[in-house]
Amino acid sequence: MGKQSRDDPMIDTIPNSSLSMLFEEASEQMSWLEQLDITEHDYSYIGPFIQKGYADWKQEVSGLPELAGAGWFAADHVGTLIEADKPIPPLVAETVTACLQSLDCAIRVSERSSCIAVPVLTRTSRQLFAVFGCILDAGLADSVWTIVAKTNAQYFRACFYKRIHAWFVQDFLSIQRQAKREEHRRSLLFQVVQRLHGKIDVDAILSEVFERITGMYPMAKAELLMSQDHVSRDPRVKSLLLHGEQKHICVRAFMEGRMLRKELEGPGGEPCLEIAVPLTGKQGVYGVFQLLLPRDEVEEVDLQLISMLADTAGTAFENAKLYEQSNLLISELRLINELTKRLNQSLRPKEVFKFATEELLSIFKAEFCCILQISKENDHFEIMSSNVPSLSKEFFPKDYGFSGLVYSTQEPLILSDYWAYGKISSIMMDETNSRSLIAAPLIVRGEVNGVIMLSHRDERFFSYENYKLLQMLSSHIGLAIANASLHAEVRRMANRDMLTGLYARHYLDDKIQELQKKDANGSLIVVDIDQFKGINDMYGHQTGDQVLKQVCLIIKSTIRKTDIAARWGGEEIALYLPGASLEHGRQIAEMIRLRVEQETEPRVTVSCGVADWSRDDGKVSVESLFYQADMALYKAKNNGRNQTQLG
Ligand code: GH3
Ligand code: MG
Ligand code: MG
Repeated sequence: MGKQSRDDPMIDTIPNSSLSMLFEEASEQMSWLEQLDITEHDYSYIGPFIQKGYADWKQEVSGLPELAGAGWFAADHVGTLIEADKPIPPLVAETVTACLQSLDCAIRVSERSSCIAVPVLTRTSRQLFAVFGCILDAGLADSVWTIVAKTNAQYFRACFYKRIHAWFVQDFLSIQRQAKREEHRRSLLFQVVQRLHGKIDVDAILSEVFERITGMYPMAKAELLMSQDHVSRDPRVKSLLLHGEQKHICVRAFMEGRMLRKELEGPGGEPCLEIAVPLTGKQGVYGVFQLLLPRDEVEEVDLQLISMLADTAGTAFENAKLYEQSNLLISELRLINELTKRLNQSLRPKEVFKFATEELLSIFKAEFCCILQISKENDHFEIMSSNVPSLSKEFFPKDYGFSGLVYSTQEPLILSDYWAYGKISSIMMDETNSRSLIAAPLIVRGEVNGVIMLSHRDERFFSYENYKLLQMLSSHIGLAIANASLHAEVRRMANRDMLTGLYARHYLDDKIQELQKKDANGSLIVVDIDQFKGINDMYGHQTGDQVLKQVCLIIKSTIRKTDIAARWGGEEIALYLPGASLEHGRQIAEMIRLRVEQETEPRVTVSCGVADWSRDDGKVSVESLFYQADMALYKAKNNGRNQTQLG
């Protein structure tokens, strides 16, 4: 490239082989200059090249003593002097103007000096773009000096073109280098987009982004600060402390939702650039990438690339997160669907409680479960179902322990460490040595009707997701329990007589029929109040009702739990004693009769008819059993009442 290239470090760095190749490639384009139709606009670009070309020429000829006798100059296309060796007398301007007008070599001589000005034309289109010349002592501007001036004008033009070529090549190379880098970046970005969008796992996306960043910038220190709870095994993923220093570049980048940078010194005093890029999706900002890079590794386009990378990562992260959430939602809905289906298979509260306990233990991998319900009789919490045997059937006041807290707040709760908490004591937690707890109210028609409690001996065992899921499941379990309880209540009521609280007649009929199929024997007592009509007449129906109730209470408290007492008719009560002999039946009837006589107020007496059945009798039926008992009662009435007769 000649001497001048040494001044220019850019040109020195171009390898020769690529240079020659480039010259070839560029020769076509370079002819623009030769064919240039130079306009005013173009000249403003050419000025600096005249200056540089002149300097190069000057250096090249510095060793030639024969040129030293003259002072040299170069002017531009309008005659403005650009370079000159020494102070220029007015004669030069005159000569240059003459040269420009004639487009030919001009010579002017004055008393003290003489001047030669040579037009410098472009190679192909032969347009004047500069004037080159020299100033000599008076009388020296002869034909020899004219030739010397013309030759050096040519030489100057060559230097000028070299400069243009060098500039062109340099420009061309830098454009090519930039294009290559740009292409590399785009292909990287394309790969990242492809790879990120191919992933549906949140953690995999974050790892991929880290890998890409460190792949592109090996010196970079990268961290991701997440604004929401995000559990990651990657130590580079941390929490963004929004309450920390508000001026921190990452907090600001998060708040403003745009990339921010800050120049600072690295650990060794080297200049570094700290970059904070938000991880943004369509629905919000999830976190901030924090990068620390050596200052000289980063150009403006790198920042654009990092920003595009963060955008892609943000969208991919959001998609994966949504995918994860919708999967979670689907599995939760499946679970709820399955659970409610199975819960509703049974209408027996006991079974529902037991089933719910088993399911909850398995869903949450909890070690212990208690389901408590508020007992209507004593307004206490009663443990309806638990896998802790020592706790079953326990009673607690409504304000006791964690169930009390859930009852009063009507809100679910999560406790990560019972031992550290210490504010509330709990038999369940103490008994099972548990440290973690989640609990939720069973709400029916807006009222807390019970509480579900799940515990584990490990601390921090339950997640926030567990807590939310339990809240959701508890409303379904609450509903299933309420349904089963309601159903049981309706069933109970359908089988009961409202006034006396005894079973209804159809229930007794069914029961006897059932028992006659599996038992060997049993007896039936029919009790009828004597002269009851008279009681009604004397004291009124209300008192009659009271007496009837008194008689029923006496009967209930005389018989065993397995015996069945039912209101048979108006003031007739039938009593079935499974497995009892006729004699046993008689004894019970007598006991009742005596107690009624002694305990009723106003006093009444009863007559009883007793009958029994045995498998050996041959034909066994409810009807015949009743018939016999009725006959015995009839006998008792006829015999003067207040007595027991056997059928
Ligand atoms: P006895 O059985 O000793 O022959 O005389 P009795 O007066 O009890 O005879 P009867 O069977 O003719 O009358 C039954 C009466 O019982 C008729 C009715 O007024 C009364 N009675 C039936 N059911 C009820 C009831 O639920 N409440 C009241 N207060 N009275 C009832
Ligand atoms: Mg009667
Ligand atoms: Mg009667």
